[in-house]
Amino acid sequence: FSLLLRQDPEIAGVLLDELDRLRGGIQLIASENLASPAVLAALGSTLTNKYAEGYPGRRYYGGCEVVDRAERLAIDRARKLFGAEHVNVQPHSGASANLAAYAALLQPGDTVLAMELSHGGHLTHGSKVNFSGRWFDIVAYGVRRDTELIDYDEVRALALRHRPKMIICGATAYPREIDFAAFRGVADEVGAWLLADVAHTIGLMAGGALPSAVPYADVVTFTTHKALRGPRGGGIMCTAELAAKIDRAVFPFVQGGPLMHAVAAKAVAFGEALRPEFADYARRVVDNARTLTDALATEGLRPVSGGTDSHLALIDLRDAGVSGALAEQRCAAAGITLNRNAIPYDPEPPTVTSGIRVGTPCVTTQGMGQEEMKEVATMIARVVREPDAAGEVRERVAELTRIHPAYPSEL
Ligand code: PLP
Repeated sequence: FSLLLRQDPEIAGVLLDELDRLRGGIQLIASENLASPAVLAALGSTLTNKYAEGYPGRRYYGGCEVVDRAERLAIDRARKLFGAEHVNVQPHSGASANLAAYAALLQPGDTVLAMELSHGGHLTHGSKVNFSGRWFDIVAYGVRRDTELIDYDEVRALALRHRPKMIICGATAYPREIDFAAFRGVADEVGAWLLADVAHTIGLMAGGALPSAVPYADVVTFTTHKALRGPRGGGIMCTAELAAKIDRAVFPFVQGGPLMHAVAAKAVAFGEALRPEFADYARRVVDNARTLTDALATEGLRPVSGGTDSHLALIDLRDAGVSGALAEQRCAAAGITLNRNAIPYDPEPPTVTSGIRVGTPCVTTQGMGQEEMKEVATMIARVVREPDAAGEVRERVAELTRIHPAYPSEL
């Protein structure tokens, strides 16, 4: 780092400021985490130099024998962690992984049944501004108005009516456990592929805090930077039958050379997730999310669907008379970073929204527990309703983050 500081103080300053931001505030963005120093070391390595188009042992470039070891380790560790028949660790991101999954299984114009974006689905599940909505015929299922849970009867009815070639389960803002067996049943009934996009919950699956999608789905796509606590990136698991199709879809169809430094960092993260402590981490992430959600409910801020089974909650702010956008701003002023989020059947546009999304992967990595979650809920409720309290809350946030720092001082 001292080298960077001397050569490019502007960028070194950005890195230091971002570290300060992480250390000085509470991060409740559900899709983020704090990658370990070992993961960061692999990312900042000479492996970024290497072109390695192809797969271990069958590359289109010379000199790949060393990076092959990194990719083999990543694959072997992921297979061990999830019990998958085949793993591709090359997707640059969750969106690239999904594009490759579509490419492997479908032709443009095919029908796909996926979760409505405004009910918690991801852009790559059929949004008109994304390849998925532009190139495929998307039919959307959602959550029930009364329970705010996925309407499995609707999923089945839509599947029987539209005969999709692929069904997608998995979401970006759905706090509850997903019934993969129910989706498998519907997919089998209509002869569809089942894609489980577990970008958000892969870390909880790895630690056994949520059931795995691997035994049920034909293809499982994921990201490595969320609850899994690895580098920014994606991956795909599938059955042996689909292995060649998936590999060809990732390279050469969607991507060129893999990011070997990221692949090595993914191997480090899978290695960390294989340790017994990771199961404890995953369980604490969920325990913290439950405590935070229950405490917010006690403060009069309603959790969508009444609670959570995972690392995140969606909070309906309509009773507090504050929009999601305003709550996001008010929390930011107090050093609490979270995002506005549409709630199901939201009357407000996506730029405003009636809700916020909170998640516990970062704070749990920092070692915060149930007591801190109760206090964080009180702070959120206070600052959402009383913007003038921001200064006072910010002081307490600073104390909490001094006790539970985002990164050790020697980083
Ligand atoms: N799929 C789901 C369900 C997600 O929540 C996300 C990101 O939040 C993605 C895919 C895309 O991941 P990325 O941002 O790495 O492209």
